[in-house]
Amino acid sequence: QVKAAGRNAWMFFEAQMNEEVSIRHRLESDLRTALERGEFQLHYQPQFDVGGGEVHAWEALLRWQHPVHGWIEPCDFIPVAEDIGLIIPLGEWVLAAACREAVNWGGQRRGNERLAVNVSARQLEQGDLAEVVARVLRESGLAAERLELELTESALMSNTPKVQQTLRDLKALGVHLTLDDFGTGYSSLAYLSTFTVDRLKIDRSFMRDIENKPNNAAIILAVVALAKALGLEVVAEGVETLQQRAFLAGNGCLKAQGFLYARPMPAGLVAGFMPGAQ
Ligand code: C2E
Ligand code: MG
Ligand code: MG
Ligand code: MG
Repeated sequence: QVKAAGRNAWMFFEAQMNEEVSIRHRLESDLRTALERGEFQLHYQPQFDVGGGEVHAWEALLRWQHPVHGWIEPCDFIPVAEDIGLIIPLGEWVLAAACREAVNWGGQRRGNERLAVNVSARQLEQGDLAEVVARVLRESGLAAERLELELTESALMSNTPKVQQTLRDLKALGVHLTLDDFGTGYSSLAYLSTFTVDRLKIDRSFMRDIENKPNNAAIILAVVALAKALGLEVVAEGVETLQQRAFLAGNGCLKAQGFLYARPMPAGLVAGFMPGAQ
């Protein structure tokens, strides 16, 4: 009796595992063809001064429209693209497409607003990122000062000579470097004194429920103070409520991004976007 139940359970798990393996397999092969089939798009989310009156940057966020399953979230396919190495060509596509689009809307009153592009650790470790960025800037005509690369702590953790050289080359081009999701990595603060980042972006997990979670509020205050002491800009992500905005404004965090201000939007809506009108 017990044995049979055990075997059934095992068969069930095995079937489920086979199903998971084949789902993953499908995802990988669909991803490989998605780039050539033009299934990727970029949406853009503005970053504001904390009062919301002015836009200072636009973050490019990758979207995949699967022919059968519809829109797929980046958290469901970027890790897979990293595993299979596809993030290198995909990351290049993102950079090129975003710079091209930013030049198009920049001719209008968007000309001083920066473009922020997320970069995977793999691109820093394996790719020739500085050369790719130099080429993309040349081909698109986007000024280097308008481009900001968002790196994660994990990207800086592999503190190899190659990564260090790439970061120096990027700085020499004149692009800005931001540390994204700040506070969620496992690395020490030491790299802040050796790496040339310009800005810290406080992870949105700390923004959650700050009224009832004094620890989250304390962490935000500490990061704002740290950034100030190091002469870095600081921006809060995931701002959804007026209370969060008031907290940031009252504590010296002058830049913010989140659904309270604006959601990510297709490229076609960027040029006509008016702060405060949404
Ligand atoms: P991220 O760079 O931290 O981007 C912010 C994410 O938070 C975006 O999710 C954005 O839509 C979402 N968000 C913005 N405001 C709010 C808010 O007020 N509340 C909440 N709950 N969420 C908010 P998205 O677009 O799903 O992207 C998720 C992550 O995928 C990004 O996190 C980034 O790590 C990665 N990603 C997106 N595009 C790219 C890309 O082109 N290349 C690479 N390597 N990674 C990318
Ligand atoms: Mg980002
Ligand atoms: Mg972030
Ligand atoms: Mg984040």
